[in-house]
Amino acid sequence: MTASVSPSAYAYTQDLDKPLTVLSIQQAQDAELEAQLDRYLNLEFREPETAAALLQSIVNQLDDTTPIETYVRARTYQILAKFYSRQADDETEAMQLLTALQAKADKPITVNALTEINTLQLQVLLLKSQLNEAYLQAETVKEYLADTNNPRILYWTHGMLGNLARTDGQFEQALVHYSSAMDALQQLNDDRLLLRRSSLNWQTALVYTELKNWTQARPLLENLIEEVKKHGQDDYLGDLYLALGYVLSMQKDFQAAEQINQQGHDLARARKQPSLALTFMNNQASILIEEQRYAEAKTMLETALAEAEALEDPNTYQIMRLNLGYIRVMQGDTAAGLAQMEAAYAYYEEFGVKTELEGHLEWLAKAYRAAGDYLKLADTLQKQMALREEIFSENREKRINELQSRYDLKSQAQRITILQQQNDLQEELIKNKQLQQQITLLFIILMGLAAVMLVQLYRKVRRSNLRLREMNKQLEYQSLRDPLTGLYNRRAMQEKMAKRHQESQPARCALLLLDIDFFKHINDHYGHAAGDAVLIEISQRLQALCQESELLIRWGGEEFLIVLQRPQQDDIDQLCQTLLHKVSELPVLFEGKEIPVTISGGFINLPFAGVPEHQFNWERVLQVADMALYLSKVNGRNQINLVTGLNVPFADAEPHLQSDLSGAIRENMIQLHTING
Ligand code: GH3
Ligand code: MG
Ligand code: MG
Repeated sequence: MTASVSPSAYAYTQDLDKPLTVLSIQQAQDAELEAQLDRYLNLEFREPETAAALLQSIVNQLDDTTPIETYVRARTYQILAKFYSRQADDETEAMQLLTALQAKADKPITVNALTEINTLQLQVLLLKSQLNEAYLQAETVKEYLADTNNPRILYWTHGMLGNLARTDGQFEQALVHYSSAMDALQQLNDDRLLLRRSSLNWQTALVYTELKNWTQARPLLENLIEEVKKHGQDDYLGDLYLALGYVLSMQKDFQAAEQINQQGHDLARARKQPSLALTFMNNQASILIEEQRYAEAKTMLETALAEAEALEDPNTYQIMRLNLGYIRVMQGDTAAGLAQMEAAYAYYEEFGVKTELEGHLEWLAKAYRAAGDYLKLADTLQKQMALREEIFSENREKRINELQSRYDLKSQAQRITILQQQNDLQEELIKNKQLQQQITLLFIILMGLAAVMLVQLYRKVRRSNLRLREMNKQLEYQSLRDPLTGLYNRRAMQEKMAKRHQESQPARCALLLLDIDFFKHINDHYGHAAGDAVLIEISQRLQALCQESELLIRWGGEEFLIVLQRPQQDDIDQLCQTLLHKVSELPVLFEGKEIPVTISGGFINLPFAGVPEHQFNWERVLQVADMALYLSKVNGRNQINLVTGLNVPFADAEPHLQSDLSGAIRENMIQLHTING
């Protein structure tokens, strides 16, 4: 018969919704605070005010130094307490606390603490009936679960996942989680063990009831009732009786069902829960109807009906009216009975739940059949079928919608993850690019610096090269010059002649060797400094007469050598004349004294008389000029003797040329003329 309470309408026991105690004290926990939290759990339902004060004092002790797992546990209790207070302000505050707690997950944290935070979030979503979000959250929770080792959290999390599955009608999965929760329970050994186990068994029994697995549900509920009675933890004993009574009636074990309903009824009366008592009475009457004990059923229902009316409990009232109508039909008062049933049904049609309507229709159909009203029977059966179809398609639609939104939520989450990954990648790329730019910039700066350094180095090298060249030049100058007069020295002559020797056809030139007359006397008479002054002055006078291409050399102490580049003999004669004149024309002035100076010279062409230089080289040619100079000295000085050619073959003249120029002149072997100053 129609029972007024279906198992799915039972509330969860409080215990499963709450995190529980842990005994193992790890680094991430504070032993003293953990003990206080255990105490809070034990006080929570027995002494709510003391419990609230304790929780507040625990929360006040939290700070940045609190070990993470203890911190998360305390905050979890605080947040749940605020949620259960069912006050809008508290809920807002709870959500803020939850957000703050979630932010903790970014910091160094243990997996246990992470699981606890995520399970808390799951429970909040379940409390807010956000089933799809809860499903998504459950997947996150499951990720952490494998690495969670705190049995308290394992128990709580599995219980919560079981509740989620059960709420969603996935009973097998719910059973798996409850069983895992039971496993976790084995590791917890404290004074709350019994309560937790009862609670789990209760949830499990509800699942079996949903699955219409009466044979599993029954012993579980029977044991549970025994256990809670034995340990005095019987807050929800009434619910247990109700469930067991329902299961037994479904098993058609009416005798046992009656007994249980009676016990439940007595308990409800003792605990002054009249609504619950009426439910037991209705359920009892339903069993009597099933047993066709209509008179007893009617008496019971009528008593109960009056009470329900006084209590203003329309649901129970209407279900009793339905049951009473059915009894009337069965007892022959067909029309009135059916009318009563139809009226009660109309109430349910207006306010009831579709799944409940179906059960009522079934009884209405039974009544029509008993009354022989086949038209209405057919009508009712059709209604029943339509309703079933409606429920089915509604369920299916709901399922599809749920699946759809679950899928949407999931793909949205994935999209966010992908976007996040893309962003990360983009950021990485930008960072790389920036790094590359920085490297390039650095490289450019380095290259710039290197270039500047190179330029400076280059300049330095160039400067030092220039200096070096300058010094070399000076060195070269010094090595080729005479320091006193600045004229070329003997080395310069040697170099010049060496170069000349390298030429295949050396140009003709001429050598004019000059020697100051009586220079020793000048030194002796005017002093060495005066001698130097004379050397300098005469050098300048000679230089003034030389062409640019001609080399003027200080050949010895007061001897000069000019390498002439004048092909015409007339020009040379003219030069010799001018030269003698310019030297002697004006005396050299030194310290107010006038020093008269004359000069003598010897001249010769190179090559001499067409004789190749390898045969008669410049040094030997110069010896001849020296002899011509000597001739000038001997002949009275202030003159130049010029040897210009040979009158005899060179071979004949050669022996005389070196040492006996006078002889050669006497023999008329050479061409010679004298320029006098
Ligand atoms: P002659 O007319 O025959 O050439 O007679 P001379 O005195 O000029 O010839 P001599 O070779 O006897 O003397 C040359 C002197 O020149 C000898 C030397 O002391 C002097 N003498 C050589 N070099 C320098 C010099 O650089 N400065 C000075 N003041 N005297 C020098
Ligand atoms: Mg001399
Ligand atoms: Mg001299």
